[in-house]
Amino acid sequence: DAKSGGKNQYELYHQDMHQNETKQMILETYLRKALERNELYLVYHPIVDTNTMEIVGVEALVRWKQKTLGNIPPSEFIPLAEETGLIVPLSEWIIQKACEDLNSIHLNGSKIRMNINVSSLHFSQDGFIKSLNEIFQKTNVSTRHIVLELTESMIMPNALETVDKLVKLKQLGIKLSIDDFGTGYSSLSYLRRFPLDTLKIDQSFIKGIAMYKEDSSIVEAIIMMANRLNLKVVAEGVENKKQYELLKKEKCDYIQGYYITKPLPKHQLLALLQNWDENNLI
Ligand code: C2E
Ligand code: MG
Ligand code: MG
Ligand code: MG
Repeated sequence: DAKSGGKNQYELYHQDMHQNETKQMILETYLRKALERNELYLVYHPIVDTNTMEIVGVEALVRWKQKTLGNIPPSEFIPLAEETGLIVPLSEWIIQKACEDLNSIHLNGSKIRMNINVSSLHFSQDGFIKSLNEIFQKTNVSTRHIVLELTESMIMPNALETVDKLVKLKQLGIKLSIDDFGTGYSSLSYLRRFPLDTLKIDQSFIKGIAMYKEDSSIVEAIIMMANRLNLKVVAEGVENKKQYELLKKEKCDYIQGYYITKPLPKHQLLALLQNWDENNLI
């Protein structure tokens, strides 16, 4: 039981669930109830301009605190939500909440952007743009401050259909970013056909930049290519000063990572935005 060995419920549940299927079924049952039980919430991870050191945006990241199991990471429940279709209502809830929170952040005086991760199932549905537009209308959010994060695997399968979809998305006034860039399809041809604004270099490349010539070479090449294609570049997973300095030297536009801060709940983000001092930081 939960009291044995000082382990928390989540660790015990991991230990006890020998059958992965049973575990998935239990998680699925709980996930169905998570929305109505208000167990989901968003945290916000700042994105900083390497030139001005200003916080120019945040990325919304979903969190699930299950009543008995505790915190369950998105790497576990997002794939499950995708498999079961639960991701669609979940994703709509996330987008609406992020828009509402962006409105209140703007009212507090910080005209920052809001990055939102898009689910591949939601994106592939015919009603995706309509559901997005409904949320934008309902919340009256400033769409030019909204950035959708897509992955290469989401946009590659039906490249022709995708161009059409991305063009329609851009017509809503939003920006488009490729998340985890460099880990998906090796084809680069889509970069010239798709109306993109930003590439987010995957954190696996950033990890090694201060240590391995191979990683820094790849990162330099991505930045140079993005520059030529008029795309902005975000480095994600920046954890230390050395990485930051290297990225600044290579003219990476933005950084994001624990070096700045961990993802924060809204009230802590508002406090950070209030007290942020560009000169004082790094
Ligand atoms: P992602 O969109 O690539 O998000 C980046 C992940 O890296 C986040 O993990 C973030 O907390 C973590 N991270 C950021 N900076 C650092 C750093 O300096 N060091 C380290 N070690 N980690 C860092 P998280 O929140 O666990 O999210 C994991 C993935 O789950 C996300 O990857 C995204 O694909 C998905 N996800 C998270 N929130 C949402 C959401 O609201 N909707 C959808 N559809 N997917 C989401
Ligand atoms: Mg992301
Ligand atoms: Mg990423
Ligand atoms: Mg990632």
